[in-house]
Amino acid sequence: KKPLRLAIIGSGNWGSAIARIAGNNLLQYPDLFIEEVRMYVHQEEIDGEKLTDIINTRHENVKYLPGIKLPDNVKAVDSAEEAARDADLLIFVLPHQFIESVCKSLKGKVAKNARAISMIKGVEVKNGKIRIFADVIEEILGCKCAALSGANIANEVAEDKFSETTIGYRPGDLATAERFLKVFDTPTFRVGLVEDVAGVSLCGALKNVVAIAAGFTDGLGWGSNAKAAVMRIGLMEMKRFAEEFFEGVKPETFTETSAGIADLITTCYGGRNRKCAEAFVTTGKPFDVLERELLNGQKLQGTETAKEVYEFLKARGKQDEYPLFRSVYSIAYQGGEVVNLTSRL
Ligand code: NAD
Ligand code: 13P
Repeated sequence: KKPLRLAIIGSGNWGSAIARIAGNNLLQYPDLFIEEVRMYVHQEEIDGEKLTDIINTRHENVKYLPGIKLPDNVKAVDSAEEAARDADLLIFVLPHQFIESVCKSLKGKVAKNARAISMIKGVEVKNGKIRIFADVIEEILGCKCAALSGANIANEVAEDKFSETTIGYRPGDLATAERFLKVFDTPTFRVGLVEDVAGVSLCGALKNVVAIAAGFTDGLGWGSNAKAAVMRIGLMEMKRFAEEFFEGVKPETFTETSAGIADLITTCYGGRNRKCAEAFVTTGKPFDVLERELLNGQKLQGTETAKEVYEFLKARGKQDEYPLFRSVYSIAYQGGEVVNLTSRL
């Protein structure tokens, strides 16, 4: 059998951490995988040097994952098309706002029997409809797409601190999940499998809204009980939302997997959404300013997801049935008082 070519579409904080794991793992299965992994880098210059050149010579993504060595077989390229050329397995790991345009640039250029996996934590809301990105990718590229999500703060994973993660696969397509498991699983990054692409994807997207609420409680100095309450209520809203609007999601994906409860916990304590939401309360600055000031080019996902989910619910007259999601939207976008975070709960 021909060895498989892997492509990584994205190279931010998480994309780079994943490139390190995948690059190292491929070397262990020379019969199964081609050694070189092409990684798409959205080009930018750092002190007059192209980021792709820096990655290919110094083997470090100095902007998005500084201090971590990437394996030599990870090759940075500045075109998604070039990264994806002849790929059998594609990893999509971009902030959710860039997925559609990047996928469209790949339309018709990916083999139908290739397999993709989405690591994107976000949803697409367009023309009143909501979709997970695994479905967006499947539709645009025409190849099957799984999802990976979990309690995975990128810097911790990159330092080989113990984590678990969850791959959600399509009904009957365990083979794809097992192939991706070989790409990602290590003794310190343990991959679990569940036949639930939508559940895994929605956990990853919706927990970011809850993380904003958790950051608000930190900014207010409300303490551990308040944060735990927001997380509990948030988890219930996440699960209810998924069950109401998506067919076939499994409740246990939310309550038992790394993608569900575990990611909610880590994000509400250690994530970027939490950090910026805390600063929103303590500094009074808007989120776009905080994103620029605190994240050095990394992207917030939770504020946009809060807006997208709110607009989707409002179009159905259901915004009051999800009071935590609604409060986050109102505080982040409508000048709502942050002390009223829990007043509708
Ligand atoms: P990031 O937050 O580091 O975002 C920056 C990336 O976006 C950079 O690679 C940048 O070049 C790229 N970018 C900027 N403008 C662009 C454009 N116009 N077109 C294409 N790319 C552009 O990214 P990340 O942390 O790798 O996150 C990717 C996804 O993975 C997100 O959905 C995130 O929620 C998820 N995720 C992140 C983490 C984490 O700890 N960072 C963990 C798990 C999942
Ligand atoms: P943030 O985007 O809030 O940093 O969350 C990272 C994450 O998804 C951890 O699993």
